[in-house]
Amino acid sequence: MFIVPEHEISGLITAADCVAVVEQVFAAMARGSATNFPVIREAIGHADALYGFKSGFDRENLALGVKAGGFWPQNMARGLPNHQSSIFLFNADTGQLRAVVGGNLLTALRTAAASSVSIKHLARPDARVIGMIGAGHQSTFQLRAALDQRPFEKVLGWNIDLRDLHRLAAIAAEKGLPFEAVDLDRMGAEAEVIITVTSSFAPILQAAQVRPGTHLACMGTDTKGKQEVEAALLARATVFTDEVAQSTSIGEAQHAIRQGLIRADQITEIGAVLNGAHPGRTAADQITLFDGTGVALQDLAVASAVVERAVARGIAIEVTF
Ligand code: NAD
Repeated sequence: MFIVPEHEISGLITAADCVAVVEQVFAAMARGSATNFPVIREAIGHADALYGFKSGFDRENLALGVKAGGFWPQNMARGLPNHQSSIFLFNADTGQLRAVVGGNLLTALRTAAASSVSIKHLARPDARVIGMIGAGHQSTFQLRAALDQRPFEKVLGWNIDLRDLHRLAAIAAEKGLPFEAVDLDRMGAEAEVIITVTSSFAPILQAAQVRPGTHLACMGTDTKGKQEVEAALLARATVFTDEVAQSTSIGEAQHAIRQGLIRADQITEIGAVLNGAHPGRTAADQITLFDGTGVALQDLAVASAVVERAVARGIAIEVTF
């Protein structure tokens, strides 16, 4: 078996590579040939930690495995990232452990790839202003990957704590783009693409603040109870997701479903757009909303790509197990 340590990941895969890999696995999910298994997430009653497993199997690429890890809120004080995860890949023919891969950077990259894929396929081609709601760890990855998808000319940012907006301003500056901190009315009035990536448990952006034609990628809601946009916005929008089962239970759509504003059969897996089974955006004034909940198959797909490259370059550590 092989070990690919966390510190090697950044040299093995780029944001653009992750977009291609995530597109492939979303398409496989929509074809019914890749399946995510039920997610386990538990408060362990120690160190305030949330610990869990996300697992799945992609029959097209024989990617079988599990991401284990979670959230340790006291890690920051120890100089460690709060989110900690490792990805385990198994030989689909024999069940033998094939690889252990550092999962921290890969989680950030595969999550950024998901919103980037949604912008690529659902945003208006003429979108030039992007708005970011949230300025935490994940926001910089989301923004950097999004900026590759359209020739954006301006970045707008909103965060509950204005002091964190420097992170977004730095990414905009890196790309030579102007950055402006705005209120939510201006964000909705000016941005043609909006990414939400907060850990909020109450709606931040209201339906009336969003103008026709906007594409939203809602990435922060990955747990029961979290919410970033008013549920009525999902009724106004054409809703897409990575996986319908997660969208309606732990994703942004959970609230609109519970309130009877939309039905599960009105939510489309983005893989269907990639496969040509769904037209995606059909009008310039349509609001499209991608509910990105984060699925195991994304983790397994990027980890498989990393192992392949690490082995080819002689970086993977081989262990007899
Ligand atoms: P972080 O803790 O670094 O940042 C959290 C962000 O949310 C900050 O901008 C913070 O100011 C903001 N925030 C916190 N409480 C808020 C509130 N009550 N109202 C408005 N904003 C608030 O976390 P992160 O690593 O950037 O992750 C952000 C979110 O994305 C988390 O909810 C995380 O679970 C989720 N996430 C989703 C996926 C996925 O695949 N969909 C993957 C990774 C992370």
